[in-house]
Amino acid sequence: MIIIAIDGPAAAGKGTLARRLAAALNLPYLDTGLLYRATAKRVLEAGGDPANAEAAMNAARALTEADTTRPDLRDAATSKAASQVASIPSVRAALLDYQREFGNAYGAVLDGRDIGTVIFPHADVKLFVTASVEARAKRRQAEFVARGEPVSLAAVIADVAARDEADRTRTAAPLIPAEDAILIDTTTLNADEAFAHAMAEIENKAAILERMAALKD
Ligand code: C5P
Repeated sequence: MIIIAIDGPAAAGKGTLARRLAAALNLPYLDTGLLYRATAKRVLEAGGDPANAEAAMNAARALTEADTTRPDLRDAATSKAASQVASIPSVRAALLDYQREFGNAYGAVLDGRDIGTVIFPHADVKLFVTASVEARAKRRQAEFVARGEPVSLAAVIADVAARDEADRTRTAAPLIPAEDAILIDTTTLNADEAFAHAMAEIENKAAILERMAALKD
C-alpha cells in the first residue's frame, strides 16, 4: 500500500502534480482541499458564518460525494471560507477518517496542507510543493481567466497571500513541511519538469527503502 503525501501552499501546482503521479503510479487520487471547500460551500449556502464552529462542523459531518464534485467550489469567496472552516479543529476531526480510509483502501496520492504531518505521518513519500507567491498567483489567475472569470493579478496575490498566512498560523494542523518531506520549488518549473523531478525523487526514495529492506533480510 503506497501513500504519497503532497502538501504546500495555495496554487503551488500540487493538484496537477498529484493527478499526474497518481496516473503514472496507478493510484487513486484525493484532492483534500475539496473537502474543506465543500464544507465551506454548505455553510455559505445555508446563510451561515464559516467561522462558526458548530455550523462548520455540522456541514463537515453532513458532506456527501455530490458536495465535493460540484463544479463551483473554486471561486474566491469559497476559497476564503474554506480556509476559515479549515482552522476549526472539530471540522478537521470530522474529515480525518474519510481521508485515512480513502488512502488505506488501495494506497493513494493525496494533496493538501497536513497530509504528511497529520493524516498520514508515515506516508511512504512526502513532497512539499511550493513556489513564489507571484508565480502561484499568476497560475491561479490563468485558471480564473480560462473559466471566463477575469480577475486582476493584484487581487489574486492578495487572496493567495492571505490564505497562506491563515493556513500557516492556525493552531490546528498548520501548513508546515513534515520534517522528512522532500521540498520541490516549482517557481521556475513547468508541469512536465515538476512531474519529472517528483518521479525522480520517488524512485530515489523507493531505491533507498529497497536497500534498507535488503539489509534487514
Ligand atoms: O488546496 P485548496 O486550495 O483547494 O484548499 C482550500 C483550503 O482548504 C486551504 O486554503 C486550506 O485552508 C484548507 N485545507 C486544509 N487542509 C488540507 C487541504 C485544504 O486546511 N489538507
